[in-house]
Amino acid sequence: MPRVDWPKILTALAPKLSGANYNTWLKPARVIEDRFEEVVIAVPTDYAKHWLENHLLAQIKERVGEQLGGQTAVKIIVKRPEPSLKKPADLPLLQTEAKKAKPKRPNPFNPKYTFENFIVGNNNRLAFAAAKVVADKPGEAYNPLFIYGGVGLGKTHLIQAVGNEVHAHNPTKNLIYTSCETFASEFINSLQTKTIGEFKRKYRSVDLFLIDDIQFLSGKEGTQEEFFHTFNILHQTNKQIVITSDRVPKDIPNLEERLSSRFNWGMIADIQTPNFETRLAILQAKAQDSGLIVGGEILEYIANQITSNVRELEGCLTKLATAAKVENEEINIPFVSRTLKDLLQTGGTNLTAKKVVSSVAAYFELEMSDLLGKKRIKELVYPRHLIMYLLRERLGQTFPQIGETLGGKDHTTIIYGVGKIAKNIKTNDEIEKHLKDIERLLY
Ligand code: ADP
Ligand code: MG
Repeated sequence: MPRVDWPKILTALAPKLSGANYNTWLKPARVIEDRFEEVVIAVPTDYAKHWLENHLLAQIKERVGEQLGGQTAVKIIVKRPEPSLKKPADLPLLQTEAKKAKPKRPNPFNPKYTFENFIVGNNNRLAFAAAKVVADKPGEAYNPLFIYGGVGLGKTHLIQAVGNEVHAHNPTKNLIYTSCETFASEFINSLQTKTIGEFKRKYRSVDLFLIDDIQFLSGKEGTQEEFFHTFNILHQTNKQIVITSDRVPKDIPNLEERLSSRFNWGMIADIQTPNFETRLAILQAKAQDSGLIVGGEILEYIANQITSNVRELEGCLTKLATAAKVENEEINIPFVSRTLKDLLQTGGTNLTAKKVVSSVAAYFELEMSDLLGKKRIKELVYPRHLIMYLLRERLGQTFPQIGETLGGKDHTTIIYGVGKIAKNIKTNDEIEKHLKDIERLLY
């Protein structure tokens, strides 16, 4: 007789989490041991363990304590899911297939996009971890994996990295990467040329299906229908599906509900804009890869200016490399600012301190002058801390610079404020939500 009422605990904790967090982290957790002194909860991955321990363990302990009395320890362990058994009917087929030595297939993925050269920061840690799990054990952990995030933040890189990794270990498997637009136009073509049979065979026989930019299914009813069947067949036979999108499923307009609900079956992972340190790390890695020799201060300068898009960061380096070669000049700040003038001023991606303050003010419906002034009111404290944090993370400002922006505050006050947000963000989903909402205003 189990003594812990685990479903009850799930129900109690669910409202405290976002739907995606609940589905990804809490829902797969199972009680596997329920003894007098210890309750053991199993989760499918190291990362899920890590996440639950950091975010929910205390609350789970509290609930278990309420049910069983305070002394019971709660432990989270990793137990990978058993590979699903093939249906007996499939066995003869599998055996004959195994006898024929399968030919290796050429690698269809872009060799530029690997896990090794993907720089991991707080903005993409979850998506990276999930992509790795899926590449290690296709079809076993999360299916589908749905990665979403803004333009130029590494979605295509990650999904292709999954492909490269799976191909390296299973070169005989049929792995397909396609953009959603290609999928749609192939489908329409196949209708026109009466080759729909071939189209279906192609996509329904894949072992790993990577589909990029699924938001383009929006409004395409016929393609949605076809994709729906493809998805079902692959999912039922435990073929891994990885999907990227520029937004969460429910925000894709004119997408059938049966599809968007399926996209929520596995794991949903986001990629946010990288912070200053991560931008700098990306620039360092890319500069090194391309043999471009530039000083740290140049990279910092670029990381300070381009704040929302990794593709643009790369663009800057490429342009610099070419210009330096052509003009045969030393790469210093004046040269950089001259060469990159267009890139640094386009797209409204230039984030300024003022923009940060005005966005926070708008978000909390406060006056900018109050936020920057000397009033010591409780309501202003938290928004000011957020400003400090954003100036540090997004603009890479120094503590004294931030102090100055905020109307002459001492740098120790700033260190305290930034630290406070950085510390609490790990345990407080609300802060994370505020920051995400504000960032939407920033860019
Ligand atoms: P998206 O598909 O999200 O629009 P991409 O995957 O095409 O973005 O990324 C744009 C460029 O930025 C690519 O060249 C990619 O290699 C690079 N990039 C993005 N994120 C990272 C990262 N974390 N580390 C290294 N390179 C990255
Ligand atoms: Mg892309």
